[in-house]
Amino acid sequence: MRLLESKELIQIKPVLDKAIEQAKLSPCQKSKRGAVVFKDSLVLGVGNNAPPEPLWCNPEICRAICAKYTVHAEQNAVFNALNSRQNLADASIFHIKVNENGLTVPSNDLSCPECSRLVLRFHLKEFILFQDAGYMGLYGGLRQKDIHQKKKLKEKESILDRMGSEELAANLFRATQTQAKLKRENIQGENKANQAHYSVGKKIRQTIQELGGTMPEKLQTPEHIKESKKRLKKSTKALIED
Ligand SMILES: [Zn+2]
Ligand SMILES: [Zn+2]
Repeated sequence: MRLLESKELIQIKPVLDKAIEQAKLSPCQKSKRGAVVFKDSLVLGVGNNAPPEPLWCNPEICRAICAKYTVHAEQNAVFNALNSRQNLADASIFHIKVNENGLTVPSNDLSCPECSRLVLRFHLKEFILFQDAGYMGLYGGLRQKDIHQKKKLKEKESILDRMGSEELAANLFRATQTQAKLKRENIQGENKANQAHYSVGKKIRQTIQELGGTMPEKLQTPEHIKESKKRLKKSTKALIED
């Protein structure tokens, strides 16, 4: 199992978006999860956690229904891929959890035995989770959802789309240094990996402080990447037409 950090988040954004979309569709009222099976950024299957029909989650008795009967998001994503006759060998599976507002929440759950069995059975390459210990280190204890709130972003916006170059660079530096550290020191286990993400983030924060720089959470939030593209197009057009 591997944890996902921001550099990769940019690379596999379409997978992330699909997983979030799935998680939001989960009929469970208490725990919404989405999963995507993918290979070379090609989506092979998607799923969310849901009790099989005709069972339905009722928030008052969610535990009695969902805990007992739910087919996990990862399982549904694998079944979905198998239904469309995809070859799952060497594919990755990505899992994400969203809260009641549809915002991603870090998930520190180890994949459960049943889902791990499927990963082994169909020779999937790896299991990827989203977590935010690195953000917490870099942003002085703020979690991804806090940063989202602080930037006053819309529900559907990703914080990665609203970082200026300084903030984005700090995050990429953090992510690449963490990946290198995990590899170099052969760090295994989720808690230790989380600790590494956190300590690298914190160290970079310290450095910014020592340099007299602006803390990432205090940097200005640029307009949405789509908006700036639109504006760029408009001004280019104006230039040509002038
Ligand atoms: Zn439920
Ligand atoms: Zn599971």
